[in-house]
Amino acid sequence: MRLDKPALNAEHIIRKNYILSYRTSFMNASPPRIARPPGPEVLISEVGPRDGLQSVKGVMPTEDKRRWISALYKAGLREIEVASFVPAKLLPQMADAAEVVRHALSLPGLTVMALVPNLRGAQAALAAGVHKLTLPVSASAAHSLANVRKTREEMVEELRAVAALRHDIAPHVKIEAGISTAFGCTLQGEVAEDDVIRLAAQCIAAGADESGLSDTTGYANPAQVRRLFRRLRAEIGEHTGAAHMHNTRGLGLANCLAAYEEGVRTFDASLGGLGGCPYAPGASGNVVTEDLVFMFEAMGVSTGVDLEKLVSARAPLKAGLPGEPLYGMTPEAGLPKGFLQGGTHG
Ligand code: ZN
Repeated sequence: MRLDKPALNAEHIIRKNYILSYRTSFMNASPPRIARPPGPEVLISEVGPRDGLQSVKGVMPTEDKRRWISALYKAGLREIEVASFVPAKLLPQMADAAEVVRHALSLPGLTVMALVPNLRGAQAALAAGVHKLTLPVSASAAHSLANVRKTREEMVEELRAVAALRHDIAPHVKIEAGISTAFGCTLQGEVAEDDVIRLAAQCIAAGADESGLSDTTGYANPAQVRRLFRRLRAEIGEHTGAAHMHNTRGLGLANCLAAYEEGVRTFDASLGGLGGCPYAPGASGNVVTEDLVFMFEAMGVSTGVDLEKLVSARAPLKAGLPGEPLYGMTPEAGLPKGFLQGGTHG
């Protein structure tokens, strides 16, 4: 979930060349041609198999998880958070994490991510062979204690230990610190923006490659998203990670767009907005992947994801979690007449 993917670097080079060729063509008085840069311009990081599945009561059988992850991959998603490494008695939904990782590793070109709350989880995830670790670091003091029973300072130390372990046994693995409750907290209410930015900088200093911002509680609004990501980029630059938005109050897409306008290029999303509250229809958990991909593609921003195949990836999800409500406007309404999508993986 980093800001500058290799694809984006290539894009910058192409843009530079384009400007040069534009100048040349201008001098030669021939009309400039606008070429769309190859490769996705934004990275959609699918978190449904982790964030979605751990938020629902039912346990998806391992075989269905494999089928679902394969379908997501077939749709063109190239980063998937497939599991979290936590004790099975706390989260039985994730008891098969290592097996699920093993399957995901068989899909070429896929960045296989896992969430780990501590060093122990990181050891297990690295042993399973993941490409990337995400550590949730809460900006809210109250949420940190409630969620991981550690203070924020203790979490930064845990991250430092994970980074040291990575350095010793798996230096190619990337670490992202996801700053949770960055936009507000159900326990303590307001979260000071200074706390968020300071914590993100501490995480980078402790060895994280990236730090993104998570609206764990669905409190964020677009003005706040712009302000915080602008400050984050000013503070940690290229280490700026993903926007992880929830759609609790219907502002998920607006918040993603706000982050995009501030230069964020990685967005977490969950197929069918899995993890929503069944007692509040329409109040989904994560931003719905289908709607997010539609928004970007409709804007002409390539995601590398094939929308029709993405909607088809709902079938193995439904089969594995029968009765679980799924959300999303695009899958309900269908694609607009004549809608053309570019930039998908072959
Ligand atoms: Zn989340």
